[in-house]
Amino acid sequence: MKLTVEALRTALLATADAIEQQKDELTDLDREIGDGDHGINMSRGFQGVKKELEVQNSLADLGELSKLVGMTLIKTVGGASGPLYGTAFVKFATKWSGMKSVEGEDLFAGFKEATEGIKSRGKSQAGQKTMVDIWEPFTASLQADSTLEEVIDQALVDTKDLVATKGRASYFGEATKGVQDPGALSSSILLKNIVEVLHD
Ligand code: ADP
Ligand code: MG
Ligand code: MG
Repeated sequence: MKLTVEALRTALLATADAIEQQKDELTDLDREIGDGDHGINMSRGFQGVKKELEVQNSLADLGELSKLVGMTLIKTVGGASGPLYGTAFVKFATKWSGMKSVEGEDLFAGFKEATEGIKSRGKSQAGQKTMVDIWEPFTASLQADSTLEEVIDQALVDTKDLVATKGRASYFGEATKGVQDPGALSSSILLKNIVEVLHD
């Protein structure tokens, strides 16, 4: 498995389109256990990323690309998810600085750093029904012999019946049981699009 600059760029553009398609679904979930803006927030962020990628054609390495994406997400997304996704990409940038392609330990190190970054920024951990419940099992499975799409789907299923104890959803308590966390869904969209472009 190998991630190149061009592959990550492709995955980000595909994510931007997928977010547009699932914008209402993300917002509806956030309406049930949040403030009803997650689709709008993610759309603003990834349309911003798309615009940047269309004008920037001299992104030399994964560090530069990830940093641009992270800064754009922090700048354009209102709400808790902006700094969290932004941090994930800024952390990719620190691990992948100067690299045109990553695999094995380097690929894992980027996702490990990103997941730790989300947790530290959000003061959160796995089991609280947030995006962490997707990022953490995904990252762990990068080192295992498992099918990444299946890991993501299973993580989504496992998260659904948890009671939220972090972020806005935590105000809804028991009522969050059985409702998919919107940030878990958007994370699955992003990570699945990245899986799509990982070359053998
Ligand atoms: P806001 O809650 O500010 O309106 P969004 O609706 O865009 O922001 O994003 C909500 C999502 O962000 C949640 O579904 C959850 O996955 C994630 N989230 C919120 N707070 C945290 C946190 N402290 N740690 C990790 N993820 C979080
Ligand atoms: Mg919200
Ligand atoms: Mg909000």
